Order: sequence, then C-alpha cells, then structure tokens
Amino acid sequence: MIYKRSSELFTAAKEVIPGGVNSPVRAFSAVGGEPIFMKEAKGAYLYDEDGNKYIDYINSWGPLILGHAFEPVVNAVVEKAKKGTSFGTPTQIETTIAELAVSMVPNIEKIRMVNSGTEATMSAVRLARGFKNRDKIIKFAGCYHGHSDSFLIQAGSGAVTFGTPNSPGVTKGTAKDTLLATFNDLENVKQLLESNKGEVACIILEPVAGNMGCIPPKKGFLEGLRQLCDEHEVLLIFDEVMTGFRLAKGGAQEVYGVNADIVCFGKVIGGGLPVGAFAARNEIMDYLAPVGPVYQAGTLSGNPLAMAAGLAMLKELNADHGIYSRLEEKTAYLHQGLSKVLKQNNVVHTINRQGSMISVHFAEDEVKDFASAAKGNNDSFKKFFHGLLEEGIYIAPSAFETWFITDALTYDDLDATIAAVAKVSKEL
Ligand SMILES: *Cc1c(COP(=O)(O)O)cnc(C)c1O
Repeated sequence: MIYKRSSELFTAAKEVIPGGVNSPVRAFSAVGGEPIFMKEAKGAYLYDEDGNKYIDYINSWGPLILGHAFEPVVNAVVEKAKKGTSFGTPTQIETTIAELAVSMVPNIEKIRMVNSGTEATMSAVRLARGFKNRDKIIKFAGCYHGHSDSFLIQAGSGAVTFGTPNSPGVTKGTAKDTLLATFNDLENVKQLLESNKGEVACIILEPVAGNMGCIPPKKGFLEGLRQLCDEHEVLLIFDEVMTGFRLAKGGAQEVYGVNADIVCFGKVIGGGLPVGAFAARNEIMDYLAPVGPVYQAGTLSGNPLAMAAGLAMLKELNADHGIYSRLEEKTAYLHQGLSKVLKQNNVVHTINRQGSMISVHFAEDEVKDFASAAKGNNDSFKKFFHGLLEEGIYIAPSAFETWFITDALTYDDLDATIAAVAKVSKEL
C-alpha cells in the first residue's frame, strides 16, 4: 500500500505535536514505521488519507462496539448539537443515561459522569481512599487504569510498550502508596493485605485484563478477591473501562457473578465521544461532593453531546437481546480460524479470548499475567502487524493490546482476516 499522504501529514504533525500524536501508542513506536492517518470510517472499515481501506480491529480502542459512524449515535449527536453544546448546568439527559446505566449494571445505585477512563479510575480511587480513610491501594502488574500518577506503576498498554513502566514525574511519595500484585495470583494479594493490615483502601483491577493483551481471570480469582476484600474491609474496584457494556450489559460483574464496590466505565459508555464514569452503591457515592466530603468535578462532565452519544449507544445495547451472543459467536469463529492457520504454519502462539475481546500472544505457555504476556516474541508481532496492515487488516500497533470485535464485522470480513493471517504467518 502507498502511504504518501499519511507520511506528509505525520511530518507536519511532528513539528507541532510531541511525536506527532495526542496519545503515545498511536505512534507505531513498538512496531516501527509511521502511523497511518485515517480520514473516515463506516461500520467495520477505516479509510486512510491515501484512500486505502482496512478492516478495523481497534475500533477507537474499544468504544465502537457497534462499528464506526453508527447511525443512531451520529444522529443523536447532530440533533443535540443544534440545541447548544454545553451549558454547565444540570440537564435531563444526564439523569436519563444514569437511570439506564444503573438499570443495566448489577449492584450500582448511583453513577457520576466524567470525561475519560483516566478520570474515572482516578476519582474512584480518591473516593475509596476518602471513604476508607486509608492511603494505600493494590494494583496488578500489567493492568492499565489510565495515566494518573498512582497507576503508572507497571501499567499495561502504551506504558509497557514504551518500556517506561514507572514514568518520570510520578513522585516517590505517590508510588509508595501503590502496592503491586500479580494478576491471577490470590496468594500474592493475601500476603500484601496481611503485611499492610488496616492500610489498604482498595484493590483495583481490570476484571478481564485487556491491556497486556487479553487475559481472563482464572476460575476463582475474582471470587477470591471479593472474599479477601470482605475479610480485610477493603473496597474492590472493577475498572470496567474496557469491559463495561462490552462483555455483557452488566459487564464483568454480570459475567462472573462477582460484585465490585466501585465500578469504572469509559469507552463504550461514550459511544465514541469522550466519556468516563464511576458508580457504586449509595453509601459510597454519597461520599462525593456536593453531598459528601470527597471532591470531584468537571467543566464538561455530563456534556450534552457526549451524553447523547452514550445514551444512543446504551439504548441500542439494552434493546438488542442478541448482540452479546452475536459478538461472542463472531469472536469464537475468529479464534478457531486463527488457531487453525497459525498451527498449520507452525507459529508458536497462545490465543486468549473473553466475549468480544481476543488477542494473539506469540508465546508458547499459558498467558495468565504480565510476566507470561511479556514472554511473547515481539519480532514475530512486528512482522505480523505490518504483514496484516499490508493486507488491509488493522490491529493495534502493540503486542500488549486486545482486538475488539464489533457487531459491524461480517463473516466475510472474518474470513478475509483469517486468510490474511494464513498468508502473513507463513513468513513468521
Ligand atoms: C482505556 C482504559 C483506561 C483509560 O481510559 P482513557 O479514556 O484512555 O483515559 C482505563 N482503564 C482501562 C481498563 C482502559 O482500558
């Protein structure tokens, strides 16, 4: 493919934007080469500035579960924009989306809207610390919770890709309150809780990890965390920014039947506009200003355009009873097809999948935590990535990301993807 226009645009962008991008993982640093500038998208397809077409498996890193430019979402935003884009006052639509979200997700009574997943997790942890009057938090190596200071300690996603898991600018004072645990290792969490008795406010995790590739929780892991949290009177926070409204209407809480104390949302809840949210039972949420003492605010929080997009998205997901099984079937089909052709070509690999999240790890052993994910062969991944791109298949430019399946993908798209993987994996 020819990327002449993209290349020119990237050169211009680098003059005025650090690295030419507004979020690091977009820069292709982990895979080499230059990022592709997209011009438009519809359904399952992306079109770049040079006129190339791609089947998209990133989907804006998760939000677009129904595909690009989904009409009910686009129409809702356009209609809303005509009536003013922001008031800085309460509006009815904020209550409407809150009612719907609370009805779809188990175990939550109130929800607060913010502008990103980062803000959701940052605010949730502040709330947990305020509520428990304790400073420490436990997070898992390889889990990504956005880029606020407390979480940039062995974070997943772009932070791993860049080999700077502990970013300069995060103070030692902040870092010392973040305790690191191993995903899928209950014994490790137990020891941390025992050696920090009475000091831990919360445990935060991605219930299905998606930022070190896809890593589902082992049987009993989430249940075990719930039990440990109850024993130690620690709040359990599910960061469902990726999994919320994706794995099921009620997210991972519904799929695994485990209740979290605070749940964070982002991505799907905004329908492709900048939205995050956090939610919990009344007792916890009423600890937030203006009712309670924990401060949290936002000039554009609950923005009408963002709420219109999110509401249109949630309504669609709530109304369509077949959607989650359809997504699961498509993902399972892709899984089978990929396994078959990778085996045929003798490529060492492990595929992890949960719902509509799937990832190919170029690793021999089971991938169950950050250490096993990091054993994947990155040279194979780079070749795989560029090979697929040339075939018009757009996956995330990092081995530590999940592929997101959308309802817009057809079985023909999946077959084309499997055929491309068959071709590309011959060269690995
Ligand atoms: C994407 C993501 C975030 C951060 O959300 P932003 O909107 O990028 O700030 C936090 N947690 C998880 C699990 C994510 O996947």
